[in-house]
Amino acid sequence: MKDNRQGFSLKGIGVRLTLILIGVMGFYLLTTWHNIRALQEQSRGFSVLSGSHFERTMYAAELSRDAEVIAAQALESLMGARRTASDIPPIDQDLLRIYQNVRNEIEPASELERLQLAELDRWQKPYFDSLKKLADKLSEEQSFQLRQQEKLNDLLARLKSMEQGLASPEAIDPAFNAYALAALSYASLALSSEKAGQLRRLELSAHKILGYLKNLPSLSPFQQQYLSQLTPVVSDAFEFRRPVLVSQRASLAAVRQARLYAQKLTTSSYNYFLTLKKTAMDATATYQQLVSETFRMIAIFSVIFVLLMVLTVLFIREKVVRRLDDLQQVMHLHMEGKHPEIPVDGEDEISDMGKAFSIFVEARRKAEQELIEARQEAEDANQQLKTLNNQLQMLSETDTLTQIPNRRRFEQELQTLWRHCTRYSHPLCLIIIDIDNFKLFNDRYGHHAGDHCLYHVAQLLLQEMETCQGMLARYGGEEFVVLLPEMDSIQGKNVAEQLLSAVKAAELKHLGSPEGIVTLSMGIASCLPESGTVPYRLLQRADEALYRAKNAGRARVEVA
Ligand code: GH3
Ligand code: MG
Ligand code: MG
Repeated sequence: MKDNRQGFSLKGIGVRLTLILIGVMGFYLLTTWHNIRALQEQSRGFSVLSGSHFERTMYAAELSRDAEVIAAQALESLMGARRTASDIPPIDQDLLRIYQNVRNEIEPASELERLQLAELDRWQKPYFDSLKKLADKLSEEQSFQLRQQEKLNDLLARLKSMEQGLASPEAIDPAFNAYALAALSYASLALSSEKAGQLRRLELSAHKILGYLKNLPSLSPFQQQYLSQLTPVVSDAFEFRRPVLVSQRASLAAVRQARLYAQKLTTSSYNYFLTLKKTAMDATATYQQLVSETFRMIAIFSVIFVLLMVLTVLFIREKVVRRLDDLQQVMHLHMEGKHPEIPVDGEDEISDMGKAFSIFVEARRKAEQELIEARQEAEDANQQLKTLNNQLQMLSETDTLTQIPNRRRFEQELQTLWRHCTRYSHPLCLIIIDIDNFKLFNDRYGHHAGDHCLYHVAQLLLQEMETCQGMLARYGGEEFVVLLPEMDSIQGKNVAEQLLSAVKAAELKHLGSPEGIVTLSMGIASCLPESGTVPYRLLQRADEALYRAKNAGRARVEVA
């Protein structure tokens, strides 16, 4: 298995996860940087919008308004000047200063603004000059007004003195008085005359009246003196009124001109205001577009970021968590003894873990297999050993010639049954069997035939013993012994008779025997074994019974 701690592999899950997280974080930082820049841009746009465009638009509006106020004030002053003479200056110099200050605050931000400001400045000077001229005219009118008041007062004084003069006796001349009154009336009318033609007509009339007065016959010295004073007064009224009318016309012209310039200035100001307003509106629209663009970008970035996060989570779930879960489940199942397939696909750390685990599982499986095989082998060897042991046991307890239990086996069984019968107080019966005249058999038929006969007799006895509970063994030579637990001598004798008959019935040829066939002699003894006794005496008694059977002629059974 390769060592992933060394070197750098793009297939490693750690490297891939790190790269993905760096990518996602990089994207986040990039979009955040972009958004911050967009916000800075907006902030700048907003400050330009609020600090520059709106401020300048307000200044432009202020200019327009100031120009209007100045024009209105000039007209108001003009109207006032006609009626009253006052010391209030016709044009407020503060307003002009304010206008100038506002104008100084404005700097053109574009070529169009520069042209419009130039247009504004072009009208400002003539407008202000016209205002100044208007102010001069107005002050002139005011001085005329004062003088006219004086003239009127003078005329009034003259009328009063004429009234007093007319009251004297030498002054009683109705014609003179009427003409003098008419001349004074024309003069006073002239002072309020508004038209030059009217003034001329009044003057002609006044001069005609003065002519009548001069041509009156027999004027008294008082009348002559009065007339000499009246004539210049009347003429002076007309002389005074003529330039007043000229001045009034000039004032009107100055007002018209000022109004015209005011109109030009306010129109320029208003146009400039409209331009700035449009610039501000455009800037607002741009700002709003920038804001909505930023919102759109933030929304798009957020969606992409969320998608990237979802993809990252899916990658981690699919490539890490799920595979680790699968591997853990597989490991658990293996621990429980099941053998599902171990996931080893891929070349990353998790697949390396799977490979390492599969190597471990394979090693354990091999070890287990070897253990099972070793166990099996040990078990087989054990079994073989057992069989051999059994065989050895059988061999050690079996007589090789007759294939029935030997004397050692008999003695073991005798001890066992002795204890058993002692414990349960059962009788134990023993039969000793001896082949009659067997020496003669050997002598006649040979030792080999003797062996065969021994085998044959043993098998006959064994076969017969199958029907009863007991044990047959070769005691030695041509002698056999039978153990019959839980039988007394009578039962034992029956068994012995049965055995005797079986061999007799086999009619094994033995011409050396008086009967011509192989016969058996048996001695039977039985007892109730007691605790602490040995079976020696039982054997002895059976042997004595056998001896008696031999002595009694053989081929018989004798009970002790
Ligand atoms: P009796 O009727 O009094 O028992 O006479 P007997 O000839 O049978 O008894 P004896 O004790 O004189 O002889 C026993 C003979 O049995 C002697 C011996 O050769 C023979 N014999 C003992 N063991 C074997 C054996 O394993 N094989 C053969 N062939 N003969 C044996
Ligand atoms: Mg014998
Ligand atoms: Mg014998």
